[in-house]
Amino acid sequence: MIKVGVIGVGHLGQHHARAYMQLPDANLIGVCDINRKRADEIAVKYRTKSFYDFKEMLPFVDAVSVVVPTKIHFSVALEALNAGKDVLVEKPIATNLKEADCLIEIANRKNLILQVGHIERFNSAVMKLEGIIQNPRFIEALRLATFHPRGKDISVVLELMIHDLDIALHFLRENVKKIEAIGTPVISNSVDIANARLEFESGCVVNLTASRISREKIRKIRFFQKDAYVSLDYIKQEAQVFCKKKMIEGIPENLEDFVDFKTIVGDMKEPLVLELSSFLDSVMNRTPPKVSGEEGRTALSVGLSILGEIERRQM
Ligand code: NAD
Repeated sequence: MIKVGVIGVGHLGQHHARAYMQLPDANLIGVCDINRKRADEIAVKYRTKSFYDFKEMLPFVDAVSVVVPTKIHFSVALEALNAGKDVLVEKPIATNLKEADCLIEIANRKNLILQVGHIERFNSAVMKLEGIIQNPRFIEALRLATFHPRGKDISVVLELMIHDLDIALHFLRENVKKIEAIGTPVISNSVDIANARLEFESGCVVNLTASRISREKIRKIRFFQKDAYVSLDYIKQEAQVFCKKKMIEGIPENLEDFVDFKTIVGDMKEPLVLELSSFLDSVMNRTPPKVSGEEGRTALSVGLSILGEIERRQM
């Protein structure tokens, strides 16, 4: 069993604690939060020990989840890595590339696991698209969230858009050539709604829209590729796949005449449980994590470029 701890048990960290409790390979040694009342409450709920200073918890664990506000991902993850602990740090990996590079360098040098919490990779419908998405020509994502005051220390690009950015980068595995972006603060002091159009080296275009001031919750992504169209709903964990039939003569009258249509239904397993289980697997077997520090850095790098473009247009 891997001895684990959760650092930061606010909105998301409490779910890391719950998920570890469910996993047979995890022994949840403790939870830590500078908010003592919160640390105690979550520790009681999941029958573990509470800590108020994460440095005091580190000697007792093999691995940690870092689920503190983004601005301190770096300092907390750095301390944990320096103490020789494997780390799952929530997304985005850090606030700038210098910090991300430093975490990656230390993890590599010390042979430690550094995984980044890009949770949509563990969405069961997304996982079932492996092998189906091939050389997409156009990707479009829409991610709308209702307003909540948490996470407003960072822009919607690094808070929400980065999920779809990571998925697009994962399926494309190539460099961005050109970025156009627009966005604006509406309620908070940083960008609350944004749209980005990315052109990749192959010519593929990725169009991402994210909002955190919507009245409805939508998380969808579509892929267009030669002879196929795929539309995925992250929330339903379901994808519709349209593939052109091979042998078609003449002009068909109905869509069904020239398209094979299938619905891919995910198994609705909780992505966070799958994510932490995969992290524990890497920790136990010393295998590379499914979402590496380098991939977290790439998503951050493109996210920062999108923000740079938004700022340039605002001036
Ligand atoms: P939150 O504000 O609800 O929780 C953060 C907690 O960290 C708070 O309880 C706070 O008291 C605690 N904290 C602050 N400094 C600390 C320290 N030095 N040591 C210990 N605890 C400390 O925020 P949240 O919404 O849970 O977000 C946390 C992180 O998770 C953010 O980086 C966010 O981007 C990420 N997140 C990821 C997803 C996802 O889908 N993967 C979803 C939500 C949030």
